[in-house]
Amino acid sequence: MNIITTHTDHTTAVDTAGGTEALVLNCMDHRLVGAVSDYLEGRGLRGRYDQITLAGGAIGVMSDQTSDWAKTFWQHVALARKLHGIRKIIVIDHRDCGACKLFVRSDCAEDRDRELATHMKWMEALADEVKTREPGLEVEMLLMDLDGSVEQLDV
Ligand SMILES: [Zn+2]
Repeated sequence: MNIITTHTDHTTAVDTAGGTEALVLNCMDHRLVGAVSDYLEGRGLRGRYDQITLAGGAIGVMSDQTSDWAKTFWQHVALARKLHGIRKIIVIDHRDCGACKLFVRSDCAEDRDRELATHMKWMEALADEVKTREPGLEVEMLLMDLDGSVEQLDV
């Protein structure tokens, strides 16, 4: 029996032995899928993060209306830590989020300051939960606008 092994030389090959910097949590919104990827690449994180996508990002994890998603999320956090040694979770919520309108308040996106405060509240709740469930993991909280620009929120 012959076993044929082929190798492809990828210049952007992922270093599997070195582990992974972070787990990224972002919303499923199609308008920002490319922007999230571009943003992370701009930070030099290409091929260096795990990713889980749930509608609403932090809201999807923390809302009582999506409690099944929370279970999936926390299992993925534990797995990313075990398999890849992640040191942080990068949460990328975004403006004009349909899940925010559906699960939190229908006028979520009508006032920019209030929208920021709303997402911050949910991301802070997630960060608190991380401290309890996964002590030692850092949490970065970001709010992306529809043009791909990112506001970093204080923890
Ligand atoms: Zn969204």
